[in-house]
Amino acid sequence: MTGIQDIATPRRTKEIIQRHGFSFKKSLGQNFLIDQNILNKIVSAAGLDHTKGALEIGPGIGALTEKLAQSAKVVTAVEIDQRLLPILEEVLAPYEHVKVRHGDVLKLDLNEVFASDFAEVSKVSVVANLPYYVTTPILMRLLEDRLPLENIVVMIQKEVAERMAASPGTKDYGSLSIAVQYYSEPELVCTVPNTVFIPQPNVDSAVIRLRVRETPPVEVRDEKHFFEVIHAAFAQRRKTISNNLKSRFFTKENRGMLEPLLDQAGIEPSRRGETLSIEEFARLSAVLLEAGIS
Ligand code: SAM
Repeated sequence: MTGIQDIATPRRTKEIIQRHGFSFKKSLGQNFLIDQNILNKIVSAAGLDHTKGALEIGPGIGALTEKLAQSAKVVTAVEIDQRLLPILEEVLAPYEHVKVRHGDVLKLDLNEVFASDFAEVSKVSVVANLPYYVTTPILMRLLEDRLPLENIVVMIQKEVAERMAASPGTKDYGSLSIAVQYYSEPELVCTVPNTVFIPQPNVDSAVIRLRVRETPPVEVRDEKHFFEVIHAAFAQRRKTISNNLKSRFFTKENRGMLEPLLDQAGIEPSRRGETLSIEEFARLSAVLLEAGIS
């Protein structure tokens, strides 16, 4: 049986890709992990056990997949690159409870995947070394679709991880922080040196864990409106909340309503969007909706 210790080393990775004549595609974000410690850290952050399932996005040659197979009851791995399928078949042959699906995770019907692959598990987590070019669309889709997930533990670009976990009043805080924090509780697990990948990416990386919330931390009547207010507030970071809202929601005729409405929401007009908490955005959206501003 092929062991994980064997796969996630530079020598074994090179041997496998050479034997299969595989060449890395930068456009698919192919940076494979070759470090045992990092693989262990990613898997242990997901809190898996033999009653739980794991969904991996982009298994590559299966280094993380094999580790997941040893820690979960069921593993489904979705890989877009057809050239990797024979490698995955070889590496994962010993594991009957691992299923590889060929396709683009953004086009896959994930509800169908959950119904058919994870019917017999107590909880499911997404665990992946994500292709960086599609990090945000993948994570937002997982969160917005409200899939029944426990954790999402992913290797992503460090800068994106910092934005997701940022608090109000910091330079990294923005609409991505609020969107992610509305659906989950993010926590940086570790930062990662480039030497753990082959080939090495030209950006810094980090592992982040998103504990998926069962209910949002604030009550929001109209999510579409709530997120529109947030996007408007960050449209021009240097502008005040008052000016940003004016440009997006008000006309010359009803501009006079803005300051009293901000006052009603308990928000100083001179503040910038980056200082507002998620609770303040929820209050602001509620007050604007109540006044018919949408
Ligand atoms: N999990 C492997 C590892 O850690 O060594 C490989 C990770 S590599 C950063 C990203 C993987 O995602 C590649 O195998 C790539 O082919 C795959 N991928 C890229 N875009 C994808 C998509 N839209 N859907 C599914 N897989 C994708």
